[in-house]
Amino acid sequence: LKINITEIDIPLAFGPAFEGERVRGGDLFGQMGGGKTQCTELVKMAEMNDIEDGKVEVIGPDIGDMKEGDVLPLGILVQIAGREFQEDFEPIMERQIHHLINYIQGIMHIGQRDISWVRISKAAVEKGFTLKDIGVVLHAKFHQDFQKIVDKVQVTLYTKQEDVDKITAQAREEYKTRDARVDTMTDEDVDTFYSCSLCQSFAPSHVCTVSPERTGLCGAYNWMDCKAAFEINPTGPNQPIQKGKVLDPKLGRFEGVDEFIKVASKGAIETYNFYSMVHAPMTTCGCCECIAAMLPACNGIMTVGRDYTGDTPCGMKFTTLAGVMGGGAASPGFVGHSKFNITQKKFILGDGGLLRLVWMPKIVKDEIRERLNARGLKWALRTSLT
Ligand code: SF4
Ligand code: ZN
Repeated sequence: LKINITEIDIPLAFGPAFEGERVRGGDLFGQMGGGKTQCTELVKMAEMNDIEDGKVEVIGPDIGDMKEGDVLPLGILVQIAGREFQEDFEPIMERQIHHLINYIQGIMHIGQRDISWVRISKAAVEKGFTLKDIGVVLHAKFHQDFQKIVDKVQVTLYTKQEDVDKITAQAREEYKTRDARVDTMTDEDVDTFYSCSLCQSFAPSHVCTVSPERTGLCGAYNWMDCKAAFEINPTGPNQPIQKGKVLDPKLGRFEGVDEFIKVASKGAIETYNFYSMVHAPMTTCGCCECIAAMLPACNGIMTVGRDYTGDTPCGMKFTTLAGVMGGGAASPGFVGHSKFNITQKKFILGDGGLLRLVWMPKIVKDEIRERLNARGLKWALRTSLT
């Protein structure tokens, strides 16, 4: 693998070779997010004259103000201006933050959006790493990898609680707007789904197929986003899939998808269903926002989000479930999915849909409350009509 350190001015080596590297307990200097503090990422389009290319600011305490074992809240705001840039591209750029931070030797990044997690190793701090380096990397790589659409990049890293709270509130509004763009679409409306293989570096057999009614399990890529990503980068990780013949409308099985995933998973996966967690569910990778599990004792289904650290009725915490599932496994009875997906119409529809759901932590419920109530009402009406 090519390690490119000459073009990016940080005190650490940088490149895809470090992507799978972990920062474990004994090596850890400090961290942001991961359930300990809030850690949020947001990419926003800006007017050409409102930002300064290459400006990277850390507002609040940096690594030098931390001692071993400390945690900090973090808000990463990337502003991008470009003649060819569109708001539709924001989620795609934002999703790059995950692997770009992981490319830095000794720094680990998990998650996305408002559930990110950055772990910084002692070795990185000894070499002089500061939070500013994250901004330097994002500025350099966004220019390098997205030349066509990016003219200016400015990065601000917030580490004061009140600023992080503010940027998180703004980000959540943006996420809502993005998610809603696929709200009125159905899987029947389109002939083309999109693949996402962005996570194969961690989970080699994992392939997400993103349809209007099944947002990617990280929550960061919906059908619209994948479509835009393919437009920006036609040879990239998001490829169109002709869905072809519908093999099973209830479970959500499509001939074109099966053909695609056989190749894309390098033969590891033959088939999967979009709307079932019981029968041949989709593969799951470590960045899923939630993991659903069967509860045989009550014949129901539970789901748990990444930010809930307590016990669950299936006897496993999120981290344990993610440890079992996160490598690209497809295990009947379990499936990774996005928070938004819970309120998408076809969520586990092949297994009975939302009515099968018997438990989720309050933290997830509160976040999706409005949409969940609306879905519940539709279910109730539908049931009384039949
Ligand atoms: Fe893409 Fe799926 Fe990974 Fe999200 S979880 S980045 S949709 S492969
Ligand atoms: Zn992933």
